[in-house]
Amino acid sequence: MIDDAPNIISREDHSISRSNISENALKVLYRLKAAGFSAYLVGGGVRDLLLDRIPKDFDISTDARPEDVRKLFRNCRLIGRRFRLAHVHFGDEIIEVATFRGDASAEDDEDLDREIVNGMIVRDNVYGTLQEDARRRDFTINSLYYNINDFSVVDYVGGLRDLKSNQLRLIGDAEQRYREDPVRMLRAVRFAGKLGFKLEQSTEAPLKQLGHLLESVPPARLFEEVLKLFLSGSSAETFRLLREYNLFKWLFLQTEEALLAETDGVFLKLIQEALKNTDERVSQGKPVTPAFTISVFLWRPVAELKQRYLQRGMTEHQALLEASEVVIAGQSQHVAVPRRFQTSLREIWQLQDRFEKRAPKRSLRLLSHPRFRAAYDFLLLRATVGDVNNTLAEWWTELYNSEEKHRGVLVEKLTRRKRRRKTKRN
Ligand code: ATP
Ligand code: MG
Repeated sequence: MIDDAPNIISREDHSISRSNISENALKVLYRLKAAGFSAYLVGGGVRDLLLDRIPKDFDISTDARPEDVRKLFRNCRLIGRRFRLAHVHFGDEIIEVATFRGDASAEDDEDLDREIVNGMIVRDNVYGTLQEDARRRDFTINSLYYNINDFSVVDYVGGLRDLKSNQLRLIGDAEQRYREDPVRMLRAVRFAGKLGFKLEQSTEAPLKQLGHLLESVPPARLFEEVLKLFLSGSSAETFRLLREYNLFKWLFLQTEEALLAETDGVFLKLIQEALKNTDERVSQGKPVTPAFTISVFLWRPVAELKQRYLQRGMTEHQALLEASEVVIAGQSQHVAVPRRFQTSLREIWQLQDRFEKRAPKRSLRLLSHPRFRAAYDFLLLRATVGDVNNTLAEWWTELYNSEEKHRGVLVEKLTRRKRRRKTKRN
């Protein structure tokens, strides 16, 4: 059919230059080509280069089978059961090589390695043509192919048009595509947030109603997605959009409930400030950790539960421990937080309590706690939005910034002040 012919933009008519493509990605493309396969750069790499942005990673699409790819590269590992593909390793850089997938809407077929459960594709290892591969991708702007054979860009789905008009459009029937893979809803919001694109009308329309589909996505996969949503540098905007489209509660239910219940807006402000802060760190190339973001998201739920336990007569320490366990367990039903981050969450929350105590000897020890920095940043944020007394944050700042030899004196001064206050009260 003539409609199915791709739009091909030749080398001189687009802005992608090989000098902006990672050398390793080029190496893989050229070697595939030399072995007689077709090979294309696809996805975020092509999209970002056309937008004059720096790609995060480079994905390759080819008619070579994963086993063929493995034979060509010594440094290659085949990964994924749900979606089998080849990872070619070059030190820290991984080039992802996927074989063209066939038409994904085709029904389950016993002979084929594809499984569809309630409209959701849980496994897809059915290979196909370039054109079929283009149609099974999520958004039109993610389905542009850079051909290593003649350096042209191949567009089967109108991706270039959407790229020019800053639109995010799902390929095919939007609702069906969300049902096939609900994570696409999160991807829609993520790309809209990151690129500042608008969701095209039919892509946007079903979003608000379909959040519940996220319940059937494995919590471990949702954690991976949460990392991308909140640590890629546009988390503040992404958070706003997730809530606008009723998606946030399917990731962080306890957080959403606390947000809806609060009347003073302090918790909302705390989250917004934390995300802004994280975005700034990302743009400055500073390290960020999901433990910080998640500790902020779950802070109010933990604090409220702790209050209830205190009223039941638990000690401060017990109440916080117990509340942390319950809230983390509840959270993990939606988004699986790996154990090492769970430990960091508990520590960041415990440090908030210990900051308030300002116990003389222990204060000095807290400064060298591995989670001190994250917990201290959190304390500052709390002070900014009025969740904790400003003088407390100032005291810790003074202690933190003072030279080691002066720290003992500072703590000593504070103890005297405290004692005086106590005697006055008596
Ligand atoms: P970035 O890497 O900048 O976050 P990306 O678009 O490259 O964005 P990846 O997750 O690296 O995203 O995926 C690479 C490509 O694979 C996408 O551009 C898209 O074409 C395709 N893809 C990824 N996830 C899906 C999905 N859930 N459904 C359909 N296609 C997908
Ligand atoms: Mg990518």
